[in-house]
Amino acid sequence: MVGSLGKVYLVGAGPGAADLITLRGAEVLKNADVVFHDALVHPDLLALAERGRKIAVGKRCGKFTTAQQFINKRLVDAARRHAVVVRLKGGDPMLFGRAQEEIAALEAAGVPYEVVPGVTAALAAAAEAGISLTQRGHARSVAFVTPRVAEGEAPSTWAQNAAAADTAVIYMGAGEAEAVAATLIAAGAPRKLPVLVVENATLPESRRIALTLEELPQVASYGATGPTLIMLGRVFDAALAATSDPVSLPACKTA
Ligand code: SAH
Repeated sequence: MVGSLGKVYLVGAGPGAADLITLRGAEVLKNADVVFHDALVHPDLLALAERGRKIAVGKRCGKFTTAQQFINKRLVDAARRHAVVVRLKGGDPMLFGRAQEEIAALEAAGVPYEVVPGVTAALAAAAEAGISLTQRGHARSVAFVTPRVAEGEAPSTWAQNAAAADTAVIYMGAGEAEAVAATLIAAGAPRKLPVLVVENATLPESRRIALTLEELPQVASYGATGPTLIMLGRVFDAALAATSDPVSLPACKTA
């Protein structure tokens, strides 16, 4: 085992807007010698790393990918040459962020690390919509799920878990909205269950659309290009009731 000079910080960048990083995360960025960042991280956040070298290693469906093992190796190598190495990840680094693979690689190499949490997309989307995911009388449980499984991984029970929770938030599912809806309905979720689809939460180009679960496949024609969440449960009843023609619902936030 070769000794390491520095420490690796796995930092949550927050959901999009640059000022939603934590003070601790901003401080670490300021002191960074090198920053390995996801493709979607806001440029204003990278600017906080005044003297750090910025290296994009993000994974963005088909557009730009760097194999996870390669990222792990680069983190270990960087810690042998620099004091402060930052791995900046969207939202919270530990939620659907493959942080565990990086932590395992750092531990195996004897590199010290620290995780700085971030605001995950689900909580940012709920905040922006003004809808509590645990609204009293409607929801006492929330499930964060994804239909995405790694190659070779056993089939997951995400849909059963989502259907069983009062509120469910689906990460990385909007690209396959039709399959997501069918799988949820097969798992027992009601066809008329209200769904809120949120694209680019906290960014100026943020969009929301309320529809029913059986209408969810319409989202395919919605032209989403940014990261998108599918949220479902009775807490979205009022959002759905306020929507007459879901597909033409205007952007909710223009500032
Ligand atoms: N660690 C991240 C999630 C990474 S998985 C977090 O805690 O938020 C990537 C998925 O997160 C995207 O496919 C999308 O479903 C969701 N996501 C990330 N940022 C988002 C945003 N600003 N608005 C809506 N969904 C977002």
